[in-house]
Amino acid sequence: MKILKFGGTSVGSAARMKAVAALIQGDEPKIVVLSAMSGTTNALVQISELLYQHKNEEAKAQIDALHHTYKQVATDFYTSAEKQQQANELLNQHFDYLRAFTQDSFTTHEERAVLAQGELLSTALFQFFLEEQGINSVLLPALNFMKIDENEEPDTAYIAANLKAELAKYPETKLFITQGYICRNAFGEVDNLKRGGSDYSASLIGAAADADEIQIWTDIDGMHNNDPRIVKNTYPIAVLSFDEAAELAYFGAKILHPSSVQPAKQKNIPVRLLNTMQPEAKGTIITAESEGGKIKAVAAKDGITAIKIKSGRMLLAYGFLRSVFEVFERYKTPIDMITTSEVAVSLTIDNARFLNEIVHELEAFGQVEADQEQTIVCVVGDFMEERSGAALKVFEALKDIPLRMISYGGSKNNISVLINTPHKVDALQKLNEGIFEHNATNA
Ligand code: ADP
Ligand code: ASP
Ligand code: MG
Repeated sequence: MKILKFGGTSVGSAARMKAVAALIQGDEPKIVVLSAMSGTTNALVQISELLYQHKNEEAKAQIDALHHTYKQVATDFYTSAEKQQQANELLNQHFDYLRAFTQDSFTTHEERAVLAQGELLSTALFQFFLEEQGINSVLLPALNFMKIDENEEPDTAYIAANLKAELAKYPETKLFITQGYICRNAFGEVDNLKRGGSDYSASLIGAAADADEIQIWTDIDGMHNNDPRIVKNTYPIAVLSFDEAAELAYFGAKILHPSSVQPAKQKNIPVRLLNTMQPEAKGTIITAESEGGKIKAVAAKDGITAIKIKSGRMLLAYGFLRSVFEVFERYKTPIDMITTSEVAVSLTIDNARFLNEIVHELEAFGQVEADQEQTIVCVVGDFMEERSGAALKVFEALKDIPLRMISYGGSKNNISVLINTPHKVDALQKLNEGIFEHNATNA
């Protein structure tokens, strides 16, 4: 069994979805995971914001505009009048459902139901196309097996049991289509795996189904050595280890959802990153193997808050850090980076939802400063074997950028620095020149 996930651009029009249908031909058993068509989830986020603000007329206008776009997709997608009609009936149902939210007050529960519509639409439209083509496939509702628990973590035992039960209903079927991103939560409500979550769906499905391979099909030819939206002359990396890929995904390489490597790593399932627009390109293969001794790539994660706690009486006292960490634990706020000195400890978080409460509790330990608009820049590779040169290269490249925090040695795969966000573009470009220029000209 292989899992093939296609992202928003890859299913962004009827023509693109037809190209996907061609890519999934063949008898090998497959589960195809689809994102919403590009732009849809953003549109649904905007509609939700308008509904929260009680701008119901504006929300309705946006829903109508999105409906109009989808009607055009239905016209382009199918040749038979019968399928066009079926698709239009489906669209009417989904868009009438959205319009119903403009009548009443709007809650987070309803927002999640709104956000789920994109993947429900793309998969249903795609399944209609396969039916029209006479291709035998089954649309599996992700809401029947994908689930998160009360800590918003995937309930992997539930997912495996329920996915297997769904698959077992169709012993003759080789091709399954399902939604990325959407799931149920601990209360059985419709929820999601956060933005970009279809990659995570694919990986969780791969682990649950004990797949041979998980393929993430997107609009670029693999993981690049630096953010291609910011830096020129980036190039695809052929081979990455699970740990390197996980660091890059977690620290901002948008091509992969931050948590999406973990389920594949746990089951040792290779992950291949491939380009729908250029299917013959080699892409990136992610496995347990490490190439060793190389700086592989750079990524950056914005929206970071740095918190510094200064105290005259603390650091060498055992139990102090535990008390600090317990504050973050109480607010379910993960810490990304940490540095300590005799008189202060600095750490970073990327979820500032409970910042005020956290700062207030930390003030019991000393003087607290919090700074937002920070960025973690993370350099990833295998630094054990290049121990005596990697850090020098990184800091030489960054010599003109003010560094707020430095983290090295936490794992053998990562050197991270914290900078003010306005320095990010410069930092990524300088790292490219300093570390990869030589590789780029040879690539
Ligand atoms: P999809 O809709 O297929 O999930 P995404 O937009 O989520 O696609 O991810 C692909 C995009 O990630 C690329 O188009 C690219 O702009 C961006 N990206 C950011 N960093 C990297 C990187 N290091 N390597 C490749 N792509 C990256
Ligand atoms: N459609 C969702 C999003 O735009 C999930 C995904 O595309 O991975 O975030
Ligand atoms: Mg994505």
